[in-house]
Amino acid sequence: MNNSNIRNFVIISHIDHGKSTLADRFLEITKTVESRQMKAQFLDSLESERERGITIKMAPVRMSYSLNSNFYILNLIDTPGHPDFGYEVSRALAAVEGAILLVDITQGIQAQTLAKFYTASKQGLKIIGAVNKIDLAQGFDIEKRIEELAELIGCSPEEIHRISGKTGVGVEELLKAVIENVPVPNSKIIASNAEIGRALIFDSFYDDHKGIVASVRVFTGEFKIGDDSCLAAAGEKFKIKEIGYFMPKLKPSEKLFNGEIGYIATGLKDPEKIKIGDTIISSKYQVASSKGSKDLALLGYSEPKAVVFVSFYPDLSDDYDNLKKALQRLRLNDSALTFEADFNEVLGRGFKVGFLGKLHFEITAERLEKEFGIKTINTFPSVAYKIKKRGEIKMIENPAELPDDFEEIYEPMIKMEIITPMQYLGSILQLKENFRMENIGTKNIGERIFVFAKMPLAELISNFDDKLKSISEGFASFNYELTDYQKANLEKMDILVAGLKVAGLTRVIPNQKLEYEARKMAEKLKDILPRQQFSQAIQAAVGSRIIARETIPAMKKDVTGYLYGGDRTRKMKLWKKQKKGKKKLLEMANVRISADVFKKIIQ
Ligand code: GDP
Ligand code: MG
Repeated sequence: MNNSNIRNFVIISHIDHGKSTLADRFLEITKTVESRQMKAQFLDSLESERERGITIKMAPVRMSYSLNSNFYILNLIDTPGHPDFGYEVSRALAAVEGAILLVDITQGIQAQTLAKFYTASKQGLKIIGAVNKIDLAQGFDIEKRIEELAELIGCSPEEIHRISGKTGVGVEELLKAVIENVPVPNSKIIASNAEIGRALIFDSFYDDHKGIVASVRVFTGEFKIGDDSCLAAAGEKFKIKEIGYFMPKLKPSEKLFNGEIGYIATGLKDPEKIKIGDTIISSKYQVASSKGSKDLALLGYSEPKAVVFVSFYPDLSDDYDNLKKALQRLRLNDSALTFEADFNEVLGRGFKVGFLGKLHFEITAERLEKEFGIKTINTFPSVAYKIKKRGEIKMIENPAELPDDFEEIYEPMIKMEIITPMQYLGSILQLKENFRMENIGTKNIGERIFVFAKMPLAELISNFDDKLKSISEGFASFNYELTDYQKANLEKMDILVAGLKVAGLTRVIPNQKLEYEARKMAEKLKDILPRQQFSQAIQAAVGSRIIARETIPAMKKDVTGYLYGGDRTRKMKLWKKQKKGKKKLLEMANVRISADVFKKIIQ
């Protein structure tokens, strides 16, 4: 099959530099989306994406366009910008041959511009540079920023496109440049067994009627509806139930062939069967034996490593199975998610879930609620620690599992790169103490400064983002990479209410912040916990050592007492309401912490 009229490409950039808006203009120019259906950032279809105004999921779309009386198929994948969703980007990159690297002219190159550029060029993609928001460029040194981008990409400044995703200026020329410059599919692959249908699964999702649907890039051969196929790594066989394109809604077609991007509905129901990065192989050529098919697998992805862990417990205890089902389905759509069963004596059965960062965690909790109607109670986000005890090294992913008598503790470190205008350098360096930054170095880049530092991952997830943004008025950006584990001076802090440890509130705290954090927590609990008919002691402790203490005085009178002997229906109503509203009471001897209260504590 001839695929010389296909171009597969992504748009990559720092967050907010205008990828999804540019994609809107492409959708309009190619008439992929009817104008009455058009809305800003059309490809951001998740509720969380629209509410937050950010892209979380990559979004593929197939467009068509005529140029010089030739007809082209353009497969675009819009990508997220935030570092927590870097895995989405890397998977999109493996499905395409080219990338538009977008830079907001009012911001210039940012930390994620660099990170995205390096991953795309490592993949051997053709990179087309464009400066965006040219409608806002007045007062900025346009030529200089264009030169910077040209230098990064290694092209001449004339090759950098000047566009506005908002007004549409320069956008059609950019689309033509994609056709002219992005290589024809598979020119980068020397296919052995080229006649066998092989498709890389770069994403997947669950559909009630079609079962598990895989988003694929076909690398060799072709696939048709009804074909017997199998999953190379999993060895699972299935008949293709439906096949088609992203328009961006699913549009069934007859077949998918070499070079195309589309979807394959597997009809499989068990989410555990499908793995992102696996290859779908058409069994037309008798290659269905699992051993034979393994040899035919395309190069997949290295699995992302979860670095932030949070335990999730269903708000309603009987929602456990639903929570499990929801997590499994979410994982189809978010392959960076990992989870395993977890138990907590107060909160009951739940899951310890691994994430790529704090935003990833927040978005997941939100998606569980919005897309699956499941509310959860979560513990504090934690990183994974290593401890040494009796000479042995052990990995700890939940602070509650930390023994009191470990000998040494090690924490994960990151290498961080910040790009900032000069005037914020002073404030950024002042973050050093509070965020335990080490080995700080700086380098000038034109009028801006590169700041390099080593920092514990735990500090990154304790709102480093927000802090950096606020002190630099949004002008500094950062990127990070995990490096190694480093020995640290950390303590395990337990919280006790009325003498009993509250499961889920145990945290690992740097020694230097122990007193501050202990006091803060004790005061917070005093504010949040409801009064009881007896006074309650709140203690923050390391082992048997009490670091901070507060007392919640007893309630003066029983506020529900007046209902006794009175209006019985009203009382029943109140009970019902309580049952419904609090959903789950956490009973600990005489102290009760409701789900709502627990959530307030964690915030
Ligand atoms: P993404 O995070 O890279 O996908 O960025 P978005 O497409 O979501 O755009 C981020 C913000 O920049 C939105 O408020 C857009 O309306 C705005 N924006 C995008 N492109 C342009 C442009 O060319 N000109 C102007 N003035 N604003 C733009
Ligand atoms: Mg976007």
